[in-house]
Amino acid sequence: MVLMSVGVRPTLKLAQETGLAMGPSGGLQVNEFLQTSDKNIFAGGDMAEINHRVLNKTVRIPLAGPANRQGRLAANNILSKTMKPYRGSQGTTIVRFFDAVVGSTRVNFIQAQEAGLNPETIVIRKENHLGYYPGGKMLTLLLIYQKETGRLLGAQVAGEAGADRRLDVLSTAVYAGLTVVDLAELDLAYAPPFGSANDPVNIAGFTAENRISG
Ligand SMILES: Cc1cc2nc3c(=O)[nH]c(=O)nc-3n(C[C@H](O)[C@H](O)[C@H](O)COP(=O)(O)OP(=O)(O)OC[C@H]3O[C@@H](n4cnc5c(N)ncnc54)[C@H](O)[C@@H]3O)c2cc1C
Repeated sequence: MVLMSVGVRPTLKLAQETGLAMGPSGGLQVNEFLQTSDKNIFAGGDMAEINHRVLNKTVRIPLAGPANRQGRLAANNILSKTMKPYRGSQGTTIVRFFDAVVGSTRVNFIQAQEAGLNPETIVIRKENHLGYYPGGKMLTLLLIYQKETGRLLGAQVAGEAGADRRLDVLSTAVYAGLTVVDLAELDLAYAPPFGSANDPVNIAGFTAENRISG
């Protein structure tokens, strides 16, 4: 099987012909209310530039989840008297090749370094559920966090069963601005078919805590 991933770029023809302002990353410029440079035209989705929650700069994140939430918010802002700001995205993605699952919630280490966030990473490997319960699959979790504060900046997950669940927990943690200490203490669902008393997410938190404390 050959996989060719060539990226995606909006044509922006209609927006350019209308004379709307473009942003620094080559997408349509919108403010926090998803208004374009013409206050009567709102935009969202693949064509628009939005705020990256961790980097706090405008980027294009061409994914279906952010596009749908922006669509709802833009429609509400058009119709209501008080507009609400879009809180940004961190580009959480997941993909499956046969049984293998990989996913990430960004930033990655290089992006964090370039943004001056002083990142550090840890990697852990653990089965998705208890070893004595049959059918466990190995999971690898990588955390990217800020050295001084322990704030989670991003995460990557690889494995099979249970990879999606851990990615969503980590994505929620990044969104909420949680630290690796919070991850160590997270109260996650456990019974033998689903996880361990110390979930891989808790173990990743312990490991990062140990590294920070030396
Ligand atoms: C093969 C594929 C797989 C994907 N898989 C995933 C995935 O697993 N997860 C994920 O998060 N994202 C995925 N995406 C990305 C996701 O589909 C897009 O991010 C999302 O659809 C963007 O929504 P949008 O509303 O900005 O644009 P679109 O969904 O492209 O909608 C734009 C609409 O505008 C219409 N249009 C264009 N020009 C005009 C015009 N001049 N007049 C009137 N109408 C016009 C188009 O026909 C289209 O219906 C995938 C994309 C592709 C192509």
